[in-house]
Amino acid sequence: MIKENLRLIQQSLPDKVTLIAVSKTHPVELIREAYEAGQRHFGENKVQEMMDKKPLLPDDVKWHLIGHLQSNKVKYIAPFVHLIHSVDSLKLLIVINKEAAKNNRVIDCLLQIHISTEETKFGLDAQELTQLLDSSEYAILSNIRVCGLMGMASFSDDLILVRNEFRGLNNLFQQIKSSHFHSDSSFSILSMGMSGDYVLAVEEGSNMVRVGSSIFGQRVYNSE
Ligand SMILES: *Cc1c(COP(=O)(O)O)cnc(C)c1O
Repeated sequence: MIKENLRLIQQSLPDKVTLIAVSKTHPVELIREAYEAGQRHFGENKVQEMMDKKPLLPDDVKWHLIGHLQSNKVKYIAPFVHLIHSVDSLKLLIVINKEAAKNNRVIDCLLQIHISTEETKFGLDAQELTQLLDSSEYAILSNIRVCGLMGMASFSDDLILVRNEFRGLNNLFQQIKSSHFHSDSSFSILSMGMSGDYVLAVEEGSNMVRVGSSIFGQRVYNSE
């Protein structure tokens, strides 16, 4: 089932698009099934859950943190995380830089941009993004690398709205690439698109999609 889902999704994606299998809430057995089908990039939205799963899976799994990250939890994932998609403040970037330095590594990050009409979603707006990248505090960070942008579109059936949000993010990505990263080829990732909208996102220029339920099935949350 998972193997077939992955195959169908991979088949529909252009070669340049990286598929992140979002495994949050799903047990390690299902992740292993995806791993055995060749999937290597996995996304989790909680630090604790990533920490619990990592030791139970092979070392060549590439772990993506896609959910909101609290500064006090960075230290747990700093030794191994492959890419943090959800950086939305200079303060957080500074903490990531510090923890990366302790581990003698450079941590790749995406800056999360608020593109949806929803209030609840995290992220910077275009002005805050520019401010961050222009700041002297950012300029001295040598153990993080900003590799691109991430965004989540509105949870909506209005495909025109969703497409416009993706298009806007791609425009911002291109603009920032030329204004702040013109000589830096590592600024190359545009992470947008989930199960319900990744086809649209790819049409609008995404090269990294974060797909959960279309691979693993619906998530079941424990009611608390
Ligand atoms: C859960 C989640 C996804 C995947 O959602 P699906 O609709 O299950 O594909 C993608 N991105 C983020 C940030 C998420 O939290």
